[in-house]
Amino acid sequence: MSDVRVRYAPSPTGFLHIGGLRTALYNYLFARHHDGKLILRVEDTDRSRFVEGAVEDFSRMLEWAGIVVDEGPTQGGNYGPYYQSQRLNLYEQYADQLLKEGKAYRCFCSSERLDQMRKFQEKSKLPPKYDRLCLRLSQAEVDENLSKKMPYTIRLRVPDDTTVKFHDLIRGEVEFSTFNVDDQVLVKSDGFPTYHLANVVDDHHMLITHVIRGEEWVSSTPKHVLLYQYFGWELPLFAHLPLLLNSDRSKMSKRQGDVEARAYPPKGYLKEALVNFIALLGWNPGDEREIFTMEELIREFSLERIHKAGAVFSVEKLNWINTQHIRRKTNDEIYDLLKPELANAGLNSFSKEYVLSAIGLMKERINFISELISFSGYFFEDPKSFDATGIRKRFNQQTKSHLQELLNRLSTIDEFSVPRIEAVYRDYADEASIKASELIHPTRLAVSGVTLGPGLFELMEILGQKTVLRRMQAVIDHFDRIIKEASTTA
Ligand code: GLU
Repeated sequence: MSDVRVRYAPSPTGFLHIGGLRTALYNYLFARHHDGKLILRVEDTDRSRFVEGAVEDFSRMLEWAGIVVDEGPTQGGNYGPYYQSQRLNLYEQYADQLLKEGKAYRCFCSSERLDQMRKFQEKSKLPPKYDRLCLRLSQAEVDENLSKKMPYTIRLRVPDDTTVKFHDLIRGEVEFSTFNVDDQVLVKSDGFPTYHLANVVDDHHMLITHVIRGEEWVSSTPKHVLLYQYFGWELPLFAHLPLLLNSDRSKMSKRQGDVEARAYPPKGYLKEALVNFIALLGWNPGDEREIFTMEELIREFSLERIHKAGAVFSVEKLNWINTQHIRRKTNDEIYDLLKPELANAGLNSFSKEYVLSAIGLMKERINFISELISFSGYFFEDPKSFDATGIRKRFNQQTKSHLQELLNRLSTIDEFSVPRIEAVYRDYADEASIKASELIHPTRLAVSGVTLGPGLFELMEILGQKTVLRRMQAVIDHFDRIIKEASTTA
């Protein structure tokens, strides 16, 4: 396929949704796969719905996700400007052409009249369509209205009794009877084009070869096809992506969980994970593989493997994918991601070597980088509290003397390494004729405050002798208080 040019064409009427991110991603994967170009076009002709900060939001999110735009507002390109609000002359010229050729007409109906008409149609179960009152105006009437400076819109003249057909790369042949197609407003009374006119004119002028967009645009496509025919332009190929569904199969745009893409980075999702997860919302490689880097996605992606059925957004799946991508990272890469989080938590006094060994021990156990701090904060801070259930279960009258004896022995080891620490525990358990677990569980609680974690001896080696002894001593010193607190805490 030569000279593939696709576009992501968001309207800045809100912040980037997960669905928008998917559309952008699929366009990007398709463009890269075919050595083509991705164009970013800002469809900002609806001034009343313009949201401040939206353009910045989606630019930032695309960049974060690693979706590289070839032509666009900041990238430039030969087919700009890439803001529709800066291309109004072009749309006006084409609207005039349609009027002259009788393929569009002026509509002077007031919004009150249109409202009444709509209510009547609803009551009588008629299709919601303009009733064409103004199509029947004579040229003299039109001229008179114009001389009176009556506001008007320009509507598409949809042919009667025809079928509009187009081929959708995902859905196959799609047909619409023009009986069900409205005489779409192409230019509003403020002179701004609607999405439909601007979108078609721009796709043509920007040499777009494939229109890849959400399913919600299928019903607009016959209007677009008519416009292409009226202008005598070649149609691009269309591919309408499946709906995104919540886990209860309701439409995802109906707010449930987070639909805005910007919510995900601060939650600790890796960009690789979010991109991988979103790529699978409607597409699959045709086999069991589920974990992909962007490069792998580019290589594998094809429109043929996009399915029609709605795609369910599952946070559990996203979390699982995040875990898989953490495991694929090197310790150094995780360190770079963790560093700012440590700084935020005021924990920047640790050497890189120390943090790397903590990462090495925990990498297989975390779902989010931040869990290195939230679940295993004991690497960085002495425990401030102790798991009450654990203390009730593992601490008894002998625990204090056991801890004291272990502390004495541990303080004499010259090399604080796993085998030496382990030997201390084994020897003491033998001598005291108790199970090693009676020593291990209380020690884990003493040094980490919690009952779960990596292998205790590995943990102790990384924490280091000084820290381990200090923490054990603190528990011995406050032994009665810790037991008492645990007995009164749920
Ligand atoms: N501006 C439309 C949107 O916000 C673009 C739809 C299309 O890609 O044609 O989704």
